[in-house]
Amino acid sequence: MFYFADAPTLLIELFTGQAAFVAYAFIVSLTATTFIFGGFMREQVCTYMCPWPRIQAAMMDEDTMTVSYRDWRGEPRAKLKESKADPSLGDCIDCNACVAVCPVGIDIREGQQLECITCALCIDACDEMMIKVGRPTGLIAYLTANDEPLERAGEPPRNMWKHLIRFRTIMYTTLWAAVGLGLLVALFVRPDIEVNVSPIRNPVFVALSDGTIRNDYDLRILNKHGEERPFHITVTSTAVDADLHVELQGIEGVIVLAPADDTYSQRVYLVADPGDPAGSRNRTEVRIWIEDMTSGDRAFVDTVFNGKAP
Ligand code: SF4
Ligand code: SF4
Repeated sequence: MFYFADAPTLLIELFTGQAAFVAYAFIVSLTATTFIFGGFMREQVCTYMCPWPRIQAAMMDEDTMTVSYRDWRGEPRAKLKESKADPSLGDCIDCNACVAVCPVGIDIREGQQLECITCALCIDACDEMMIKVGRPTGLIAYLTANDEPLERAGEPPRNMWKHLIRFRTIMYTTLWAAVGLGLLVALFVRPDIEVNVSPIRNPVFVALSDGTIRNDYDLRILNKHGEERPFHITVTSTAVDADLHVELQGIEGVIVLAPADDTYSQRVYLVADPGDPAGSRNRTEVRIWIEDMTSGDRAFVDTVFNGKAP
């Protein structure tokens, strides 16, 4: 008999090994979230989960040009036939084209809404409809809240440049430019090599028969260059009496070849020869260095060497 409680264990046994299980778990979770968010929740994700509408609303003011409906021109709305028959009706022929194209499913004729992502699809849809029925375009257009009373009173709107060049817009432009510049600088000054070390703590140290004490580490070199590079691995310590040296698992010497644009992993041994004070101390602070032998660039990572305390 199959019990649901056994499902996780069965799944793990079904797939060969932990890596395969993790891969399948990713596939299942990605498929499920894509279906739920894209097929089921759809625009609700934009409205309730995306922070952008809140950020956009916080950045706007009465002079911000945004997608708006000229209700003083469109209302009272009526179907084309009635609208043609009665000149007192507005220009909106209630065709719902603006609602049908809206990716977040709102009706802009009800006024500004938080959900609006100002994609302007409703502007195009309405203009197309107005052209078809032979009425002026711009029933839905970019407007500011401050222009609305002017238009209602039949006065011309303010010059567009007065909306665009203001303290607020200059400040936002400067801020975004500074962020962009910061990212650009970070891109150019990023180090071309990185090193990472994970001490192996099971066991904490290995005591060899001749009195040598050895600690094991997993070292990862990130080579961001487009070609393979040799790296020299060394160790230093703040403890002046320590005289540790490096040995590499499966490699003669202390030079490794890191592949282009990739991470290279290597098991590294730090060794305290018999009589080295680091071997009989509980903790010794050490720094493991890598040196790119092509460019001379260096990187380090601090860690600890554990000895056999008396
Ligand atoms: S601008 Fe885009 S999101 Fe906003 S109401 Fe129009 S179609 Fe919808
Ligand atoms: S597309 Fe224009 S005319 Fe049609 S319903 Fe929307 S506002 Fe009215």
